[in-house]
Amino acid sequence: MADQDLFKKVLSHAKEYGFVFPSSEIYDGLSAVYDYGQQGVALKKNLREYWWKAMVQLNENIVGLDAAILMHPTTWKASGHVDAFNDPLIDNKDSKKRYRADVLVEDYVGKLDTKIEKEVKKAAKRFGDAFDKAQFLNTNPRGVGYKEKGAAILKRLGKSLENEDLADVKSLIEELEIACPLSGSKNWTEVKQFNLMFGTKLGASAESATELYLRPETAQGIFVNFLNVQKTGRMKLPFGIAQTGKAFRNEIVARQFIFRMREFEQMEMQFFIPPGTQKEWYAHWKETRLKWHHSLGLGAENYRFHDHEKLAHYADAACDIEFRFPFGFKELEGIHSRTDFDLSSHEEFSGKKLQYFDPERQENYVPYVLETSIGLDRLFLAVFSNALQEETLEDGSSRTVLRLPAVVAPTKVAVLPLVKKDGLPAIAKDIVNDLKWDMAVAYDEKDAVGRRYRRQDALGTPFCITVDHQTLEDQTVTLRHRDTMAQERLSIAEAKAKISEATAFQTWLKGI
Ligand code: ATP
Repeated sequence: MADQDLFKKVLSHAKEYGFVFPSSEIYDGLSAVYDYGQQGVALKKNLREYWWKAMVQLNENIVGLDAAILMHPTTWKASGHVDAFNDPLIDNKDSKKRYRADVLVEDYVGKLDTKIEKEVKKAAKRFGDAFDKAQFLNTNPRGVGYKEKGAAILKRLGKSLENEDLADVKSLIEELEIACPLSGSKNWTEVKQFNLMFGTKLGASAESATELYLRPETAQGIFVNFLNVQKTGRMKLPFGIAQTGKAFRNEIVARQFIFRMREFEQMEMQFFIPPGTQKEWYAHWKETRLKWHHSLGLGAENYRFHDHEKLAHYADAACDIEFRFPFGFKELEGIHSRTDFDLSSHEEFSGKKLQYFDPERQENYVPYVLETSIGLDRLFLAVFSNALQEETLEDGSSRTVLRLPAVVAPTKVAVLPLVKKDGLPAIAKDIVNDLKWDMAVAYDEKDAVGRRYRRQDALGTPFCITVDHQTLEDQTVTLRHRDTMAQERLSIAEAKAKISEATAFQTWLKGI
């Protein structure tokens, strides 16, 4: 499928099969806010668990936390969000559409990347087996030109943003002759800063109400609890605190479905380390997180690192793990070396010491922090869009199959009586009642069995167990595999063992 067609298909499939609905749809929806339906909530929960198990359960020195969404307002002064959580915005005077200036420039560079990929494809066709991609990328004048141009543009953008030179960001947009994607016009306003936090009020009467913010990231709940966890858990450095939860950003350019939402869920881990060790831990977490992504089996070629040119006010090194979404490579996870910025700043604003006594160094210090931060909704979109495939079968018919990694599939197995009589439904229901203690299982007796298989394929169910007349005689069933459509005859216990092995966290996570 072409990328644009795939993206359209992702949206319609997500809705048609109960994965994602627009929020408050009966009132025409709320822009960039979505609800997860009966299938989506299960996939999302499984993805969250896949992360939690890898980060908390498998690491002795990482513990969990569930901090509140509402926090003391001074938190956001200390974190820098009141002063610096801004996006550079630009309006097109003709279409009246508002854009993020940095995203306009990044999309321009993305187009250069697409051009490079086209050159690679052409050359691969021309040279056949003898084609050496790495050599081509280093020597082809056109490809090298695009790459250098892209790098120079990003460097300049990074510098201008860092120096808050918004006039130069506008000049860059003009020099590159970037047009409004909607109107094609190049008639732009100046670039302005816009704060992304949602404000709200605490308290009954207008006079006594305190101004609050909905948290724009979960990380600060971890920082303000650093000492609580360290002391009560008797934690020794290095150790981590992980949490998952909702975050809110008043994104101006909210588009691309659940990629950029106003209410979304983050899965963050702050790893507290002695000062001076941040370089090695940065390298460690980059590698560990990429391995985790690869373990989901979406294809290593669909990930890449993007090192930040412009560092946030708190960071001394930062990169993104980007994923190839249907609309190109985009950020999926951020890895940030945050120094002692956050804890020091909370010390200053709260007047409370947030230090650690290091028994080896025999000194007190404010720990440094290494952060891994991934959006659960973006992960959902990555897994879902990668899984959705349209297949032509040998007999010329086509099938839609959602090849979700079995470990996160909403339902692990559907149990289907071949016909709705002869005692087959009762046996199928017994199997369901046995399996449901160990895994998510569905029962379906409507329509011909072929149609039921197709429906489970579209839902991403990796296995179907079919109960037929032979089951009455020898207690065997048919186990059908979603990806190959292969069928095998097994005892119920054998089928159960196969499904358990194929869907177990251990099977998927043990490689990391
Ligand atoms: P972007 O540059 O795309 O706005 P960011 O760099 O601001 O993202 P971070 O602040 O590093 O993002 O947040 C960590 C993670 O949270 C991101 O990698 C992303 O997966 C997720 N995330 C951030 N903003 C959103 C959003 N509006 N909707 C969904 N997920 C988001």
